[in-house]
Formats: sequence, structure tokens, C-alpha cells
Amino acid sequence: MQKPLKILVLEDVQDDVGLIERELRKGGLTFETTRVDSKQGFIEALRQYEADIILSDHSLPQFNSFEALKLCRRSGVRIPFILVTGSVSEEFAVTCLKEGADDYVLKSNLIRLPNAIVNSLKQKELENERKKSDEAIREQNEELVKINRELDSFVYSVSHNLRAPLMSVLGLLNLARLQEGKEEMNQYFQMMEQSIQKLDNTLKEILDYSRNARKDVDVQQVDIRDIVNDSIKRLLYMEGSEKITKTIDIIEQSPLYSDAYRLLVIFNNLLSNSIKYRDPQKEENFIHFYITIEKQLLTIRVQDNGIGIPSHFLPKVFNMFYRATERSEGAGLGLYIVRETVQKLGGKVDVHSEYGIGTTFEIEIPNKLPGDINV
Ligand code: ADP
Repeated sequence: MQKPLKILVLEDVQDDVGLIERELRKGGLTFETTRVDSKQGFIEALRQYEADIILSDHSLPQFNSFEALKLCRRSGVRIPFILVTGSVSEEFAVTCLKEGADDYVLKSNLIRLPNAIVNSLKQKELENERKKSDEAIREQNEELVKINRELDSFVYSVSHNLRAPLMSVLGLLNLARLQEGKEEMNQYFQMMEQSIQKLDNTLKEILDYSRNARKDVDVQQVDIRDIVNDSIKRLLYMEGSEKITKTIDIIEQSPLYSDAYRLLVIFNNLLSNSIKYRDPQKEENFIHFYITIEKQLLTIRVQDNGIGIPSHFLPKVFNMFYRATERSEGAGLGLYIVRETVQKLGGKVDVHSEYGIGTTFEIEIPNKLPGDINV
């Protein structure tokens, strides 16, 4: 059965409400009414009655329909408001509509009321739908403006980071042209190679970033020790890698289901940072991987005793293109990629660091164990 329409009637004459109700029944409407005849009563009914529509006489003792309309608008009530009143001038009717009434019906012509109610309800529904879609378009627009702004700054920073090593190669080429000795030439070639390497690293990082953004997460059973060892092997020839002692500690309470490629990206970035930012003043440099696999959660703690990060830089180290030390020769993308990748896996990453002492990254990633595996 259709839910009865809840009608709030602002009317001081009970008999008139009876007439209205009779006409609505004749018109085939299922409804219930609540009558109020004062400002206070009207305000309370707006708060509590949850009406679908308001029918209002124009003038009541100490209150009138204009004031009632204003009250509705001020309190954000958006239901249809129909004036049901005795004979009025055309001018008065136009003023009512201008003030926001949806329709007006003369008491001498109540036969029109059921239709007026149905039409204004339809009208309001359309209006609400339009407002909703306007709101959705506005939100999409804001999102687009934001993405556009980010893209703008991305293009600027990328081109800057790509041009710097290119300019350096060009400068070195010019210098090399002026040299005659083989030794100096070799030195310039070496410097050119470094610049090209830098360019290649930045491009690789941008690829990692875009691959993470585009590719779906690929969950499979993974052997995390293999992944860490793979990462160590890949970075074995990075300058300084041989000076760092690497240890892996794994507590395995459950098989691990995750995305092997993304885990490798995370370990590569953290390990290469620990190598880059090792502290040559210390007798021994280390990096410890502490890994715990539980049924629901993979926890990774990567701790080094490198140069550390000053506390005022810490909140920004995960930002795109952010470098926190002069020693950085990178583009400031590594930790941004780590955070994006961890987030894509549904996890979170945090960093603790003490300048001069060392840095620890803590990562939590959900273990995507299939439901039918019991541990
Ligand atoms: P990049 O290494 O290219 O500068 P990252 O995003 O990887 O960019 O790191 C951002 C900054 O955070 C680095 O410039 C560095 O100052 C700091 N940092 C990252 N990892 C470490 C670490 N293990 N030890 C000390 N500083 C670090």
C-alpha cells in the first residue's frame, strides 16, 4: 500500500480543513493531515512532523502565509508550499509565487487541489534531482581543477628534473671538446655517465609511479624473504651497498597474499635510501628488515643507522619531489612512490627518525589471505 502523504495544514478554521480533506479523498489521494493555526505551532510542526507538503491559508490571527514561507526557506525546508485561500487578486497571487509558493488554489475551487498537490510534488522531485546532479557536477569540477593543478606542478617538476642532468651533459660535452688530454676526457665522460644515470633513474621512478597508478593490484601467495633478497641483489652494485650490513628477521604466522611487484618497489626504494643516506662517520652501517606476517596483517619495519632526518623535515618526506638533504641526488620521488604504493595495497606507512642516529619506516599492509585458507 502507498505510504499516506503527510500534509501540514496551516489553517485556523477546522471546517475548512474538513472541506480540503473531502476534496483530496475525492481526488483519490491517500493522506494524513496535521493542522496548526499559530506561528509557534507551525515552527514545531516543521521540526517534528516531517511533512511532505504544506497547505497554507493566507491570513491567520497574528500570522500569515508570507511569514510561513520565509520560515520554511530560512530553515531549509524544501517541500512544496501551496496557498489555499479565499478570493484573492491576481496581483496577490503573483506576489505569492514570487515569494516562493509552488501554487495557489482558491477555496471556492478546491476541486483543483489534488492535481495541484500531485504536480507540485513532481515538480519538487525534479528540482531536487536537478540540484543533486548540479552538486555532482560541481564536485567533479572541483576534482578536475585539483587534478589539473597537480598535473601542472608535476609537469613543471618533471621537466625541471629531466632538464638538469641533460644541461649538465651538454655543458660537459662543450668542455670535453676543448680538451686534448685523454685523462681529462675520461673524467668528463664519467661525469656525463653519472648525469645520464641520474636521468635514467628519474625516468624509472616516474614509470614506477605511473605503473602503480594504472595497474590493478595482483594478489598472489608471495615469499617475502625472496622479495627482500631480490631487492638486495638488484641494489648490490649501487655505490656504498657493500658497506651496509643487511639483516632480515621474519616472524611468519601465516602465508602471505599480496602483490609481489609492489612489495619489491617498496623494498627497493627503502633499501636504496638506506644505502644513499648511510652515515660514513659510523664504524658500521646497517639496515634491518623486521617482518611479521599475521593472518590479517603484514607489518614491515625497516631500520637503518644512517644520517637520519631532521624532525622539521619529517612531515614532508613523503611529498612528491621533496628532498630533505643536500646529499640527495635523486628527484625526491622515492618515498612518494612508497606511500602511493602502500596506499594502493590498502596499507599505511609512517616514519620515525633521529638526526644523526638513524631512520625507521613502519608499514602495515592487509594480508589478502583467501577466505578458504585456515591458519
Ligand atoms: P630522494 O632520495 O630522491 O631525495 P626520497 O623521496 O626517496 O627522495 O626521499 C626524500 C628525502 O627523505 C631524501 O631527500 C632524504 O633527505 C630523506 N630520506 C629518505 N630516506 C632516508 C633514510 N633512510 N635516511 C635518511 N634520510 C632519508
